[in-house]
Amino acid sequence: MSAGQALWRGLRGRCPACGEGRMFRAFLKVADQCPRCGEELHHHRADDFPAYLVIIITGHILVPIVLAVETHIAPAIWISMTLWPAVALAMTLGLLQPVKGAVVAIQWYGGMHGFEAAKKARAQAAHGG
Ligand SMILES: [Zn+2]
Repeated sequence: MSAGQALWRGLRGRCPACGEGRMFRAFLKVADQCPRCGEELHHHRADDFPAYLVIIITGHILVPIVLAVETHIAPAIWISMTLWPAVALAMTLGLLQPVKGAVVAIQWYGGMHGFEAAKKARAQAAHGG
């Protein structure tokens, strides 16, 4: 189990431990435990961090595109005022769950917060008991 593997499972909304069970019981509600393997997931403290990351990611992708389009094509103002908020909304809604899944998976992998006991148990299992 690598950090990258845990991250990838989280991005896909899967349990970081088994990669099979669904991490979310609702759009942004993390399940208390994995429905497949029973790994406890309620320890996460993602808080507002996923939202900050989504703002940073969306801004870094969207701002250069907006600048390029507005400079070179200069569409009618009503198109700009309809298109860009819609694209920003779609990107943020599309990114929130994967980014939150990744944040929870990294916390789980790093044994942060209440995930510490689970990490110790994994380390013991890996070293044969
Ligand atoms: Zn699981």
